[in-house]
Amino acid sequence: MGDRHNTLGHYDITVIGAGSMGSACARHLTQIYKGKICLVGPDEPTVPRHQSGRSVFAAYYDQGRITRHLDADPVWCQLANRSIPRYRQLEKATGVQYYHERGFLVLGSKDDPKIAQINKVAEMIGFNYEQLSYTELKRRFPYLQVPHDFIGLYESTDAGYISPRGQVEAEIKAATDNGCTLVREIVNKVSRNNNGDYTIITETNKVITSRKIVVATGAFTLFKEIIPDDIRQRLDIQCGTQTVVKLQVNAADRQRYSNMPCMVYLYPEDPMEFWYSLPPVLYPDGQYYLKIGHGGDLIKIMPTHKDVLKWFHGHGDPKTTDILTKAMLSVLPGFKPVSIKPDGCAYTITPHSHVMIDKITENMVLLSGGNGCAAKSSDEIGRVGALTITHDNWHYDIPQEAFKLCFKLTPKL
Ligand SMILES: Cc1cc2nc3c(=O)[nH]c(=O)nc-3n(C[C@H](O)[C@H](O)[C@H](O)COP(=O)(O)OP(=O)(O)OC[C@H]3O[C@@H](n4cnc5c(N)ncnc54)[C@H](O)[C@@H]3O)c2cc1C
Repeated sequence: MGDRHNTLGHYDITVIGAGSMGSACARHLTQIYKGKICLVGPDEPTVPRHQSGRSVFAAYYDQGRITRHLDADPVWCQLANRSIPRYRQLEKATGVQYYHERGFLVLGSKDDPKIAQINKVAEMIGFNYEQLSYTELKRRFPYLQVPHDFIGLYESTDAGYISPRGQVEAEIKAATDNGCTLVREIVNKVSRNNNGDYTIITETNKVITSRKIVVATGAFTLFKEIIPDDIRQRLDIQCGTQTVVKLQVNAADRQRYSNMPCMVYLYPEDPMEFWYSLPPVLYPDGQYYLKIGHGGDLIKIMPTHKDVLKWFHGHGDPKTTDILTKAMLSVLPGFKPVSIKPDGCAYTITPHSHVMIDKITENMVLLSGGNGCAAKSSDEIGRVGALTITHDNWHYDIPQEAFKLCFKLTPKL
């Protein structure tokens, strides 16, 4: 263990990873738990990622993540349903604005089974949305060109996009205002000491001790010695590539698209399966961009830490950039982007397509596996993480099965 100079204190619960889920978990812990809480994790680099020398990055380094209830999966729908009403409360409490209520629209063939499934989940959970015929779509959004058999499922309120950067800032502000200690360090290793507490050692050799730990390290969960080796090697959590493309919008087009909602386009026959877009979003360079991303076969799995770092250092995949740009321009005929800016990001994928929120050991909880869906619901996910680390047994109304740890299948001899 380090000398006194390197010791950063002892805590009852330490959350490792100050991103979307970890920051929310820390905030909820400060509300439901009386002990000492610490949140450890680096801030966003202030220099380009490839020059930062960082060994970990985050999925929240952006200005826009879609938020919506409409979903084919009832668990994701329920988590969003519980998170969305809290955005304005958190904004008010912290003074950080991050929610833009622009609405959300799913576009797909009226015969697509996914449309039927989304309708079914919406009926089950119960929230406001409309089904728009092709004619109604054209009337409300005349600039959109979609196939004649397409319909729309539309949430005009309680949906739109959030700035994930802003949300993390707000969660951290609320957590630290409530007494949580924030340590801007990257954790290298966690071990158990003689009295059963955890010793957390950072990259700069600082030491924190903690009775309990929540691991919320996103795409880098398997790449540091935080989770015990025997479990880490078997955990089935994969890291997938995401290429996003930002199409710069001029003032006239911003005006033209002033009622544009966030959109998901379902194309089951296409290898992408679906792609999504955000309406013109203001970025830190002072310009507005339409942002596009994808699903399906364009996601490539990155097995090693080196692969993930290399991907974060780059600007996505040029072929995917081309496919996404063409897809967007086909839906918005006449749109001429001022510039096209691709970027690379990564997200975690789990076999049940949900976040793993489960005990790794009696005093260590894993909170990871966003599957590209978790930014909008990270407040509720963080709350479930806080409930899980502070209770002996599962303490939530959605069955634990939905969030359980998944392990790789070992070949039978
Ligand atoms: C391109 C893209 C588009 C997306 N679009 C949407 C969308 O439209 N809607 C939506 O809801 N979701 C979306 N998502 C998903 C969403 O952004 C993620 O699911 C969510 O941000 C994941 O949260 P997290 O806390 O698991 O990870 P992160 O937010 O990445 O946080 C993990 C944190 O852990 C830190 N960390 C890692 N290792 C260590 C360590 N050893 N020590 C200390 N700290 C460490 C990292 O620095 C990071 O800050 C998208 C994701 C991507 C990549």
